[in-house]
Amino acid sequence: MFSHHSKRTLNCLWLFLIVWINPSDAFAQTLNYFKVKAEIVETRLETCPSRISERRERLKQLFMEVGCQGPYLKEQRVRRSRFNVICTLEGESDSTIIIGAHHDKARNGDGVVDNWSGASLLPSLYEALKSDQRQHTFVFIGFTDEEKGLIGSKHFVKSLSKEEKEEIKAMINLDSLGLSYTKLWWNEAGQDMVNTIAGVADQMGLEVSGVDPSRVGGGDNESFEKLGIPALMVHSVTEEKLKILHSRHDNLKAIQMDDYYDTYRLLAAYLSYLERTRNDEDATRVRAEGQRRASPTLGRNDDLALFTRKDDEGFVLDDLPSGVTVAGVARRPEDVAASVRDATGAAARAVIAAAGRS
Ligand SMILES: [Zn+2]
Repeated sequence: MFSHHSKRTLNCLWLFLIVWINPSDAFAQTLNYFKVKAEIVETRLETCPSRISERRERLKQLFMEVGCQGPYLKEQRVRRSRFNVICTLEGESDSTIIIGAHHDKARNGDGVVDNWSGASLLPSLYEALKSDQRQHTFVFIGFTDEEKGLIGSKHFVKSLSKEEKEEIKAMINLDSLGLSYTKLWWNEAGQDMVNTIAGVADQMGLEVSGVDPSRVGGGDNESFEKLGIPALMVHSVTEEKLKILHSRHDNLKAIQMDDYYDTYRLLAAYLSYLERTRNDEDATRVRAEGQRRASPTLGRNDDLALFTRKDDEGFVLDDLPSGVTVAGVARRPEDVAASVRDATGAAARAVIAAAGRS
């Protein structure tokens, strides 16, 4: 995460979902993915080199260990900078989902949280998906020099042809994980993504909430958002933990291992779900909804206006194939409670997918 040094405050939104329980729904079926063991995910995090060039080598080594090699593993030289590491997991189509995590670090601290926590998770996510046949092509990228202003991701995006850009259906950016349970931020085009990952989290009994880091910093997702690509930033930063980033406290001790592994499990399940459900039509529809970033400063009613369809109560209706039929954001936990009370029917179960103030 790079930082804007001025206003260091975070905005927290309470994500809530109402999920229809329908045994015939695809959502209830088991997702097929390989779950890398907690010890392995932890070891990959713990073996965190300090120099950026060593981090790049280590990331390549981890990719090779999980089977990403030869023509599928590349280094992309970045103008006036270092190298992006790019591992491609081919699918039957060119339809592409990008999972990014910068591997460089700020000067202070070990950079375990920011962002070896993201970069070292990429090979484990590759492993989660590699054994099954895929329709989508997944591209895992360890971007360089994010801290200097998204240099690696800007270069990557620039290097793409018009056709290649059009094939990118979604971008998921992992930045600074493991400080707390999973936090999400997204652009408007990524609304379906956040509904879906929150639905997956609910099914797994995991917590997620929306925390907007854009006032204090940003990430490589922004390079993709500029193209109108649906983008989701996955992080763990809260108001209380913010000071850890770019300080000497950014080390292994700052990581809450259980939360970190939960974020891994959620991402692995979410990617396998995305693989199965996100088709070209979805992506086109989502893209057409525009590129404006969801603003954290809006009032409650305005929050709801971010969504496309509302019921009489002002709650959002979204016909997702996932079975997540109602979703939205509220500014306070009381609002979540109120909305759940108003919007649930006998067949709907309300789930408050957020707990603890940011
Ligand atoms: Zn950073």
